[in-house]
Amino acid sequence: MSSCIFCQIVRGEAPATRVYEDDDFLAFLDIRPITRGHTLVIPKQHSTELEDLDRDAGARLFRLGHHLALAMRRSDLAADGANLALNDGTAAFQTVGHVHLHVVPRQHGDKLRFATGLVLRRSKDAEATAAAIRTGLRKFESEGS
Ligand code: 5GP
Ligand code: ZN
Repeated sequence: MSSCIFCQIVRGEAPATRVYEDDDFLAFLDIRPITRGHTLVIPKQHSTELEDLDRDAGARLFRLGHHLALAMRRSDLAADGANLALNDGTAAFQTVGHVHLHVVPRQHGDKLRFATGLVLRRSKDAEATAAAIRTGLRKFESEGS
C-alpha cells in the first residue's frame, strides 16, 4: 500500500533501524520506544487489521515476536521479560494501519522507567540497540531451539 508508512519501510522508502528480516517479515525499532529495544514485528505484505491477516501469517508473526523476546533476554539489553502487544483496530488504539506486534523488553524493577518511557518515548542509541538484539538473536539461534 503506497501511503502506508510501514509498507514504505518494507520497501526501503522510509528509514527504520532494522533488527531482523526474512522474505515475509520485518522487525525494526519503534521510533518512539517505551523501553530501550522496543521492537515492532510486521508482515511485509500489507494487512490493516487481524481481520484481513492470513491466519498462518498471524501464527508466524507471534513466533517471531516470541524469538525476539528470547533474544532480548540473551542480549546486552539483559531483559528479564517482555510485553508483547498487538493493538487490533482503531477501537483498540491501533494508530498505524498495518498489523504490527510490539515487543517491549522489561527488567525487574523497571516500573518507574517504564512509566517514564510511556510518557517520554525517546529513542537513543538505535544502531547499538539493534546490534545488541541481533547478537541476542544469534545466541538464541545457536541454541538450536
Ligand atoms: P500502535 O498504537 O498502532 O499499536 O503503535 C504504532 C507504533 O508505531 C507506535 O509505537 C509508534 O511509535 C510507531 N511508529 C509510528 N510511525 C513510525 C515510523 O515511521 N517508524 C517507526 N520505526 N515506528 C513508527
Ligand atoms: Zn502497510
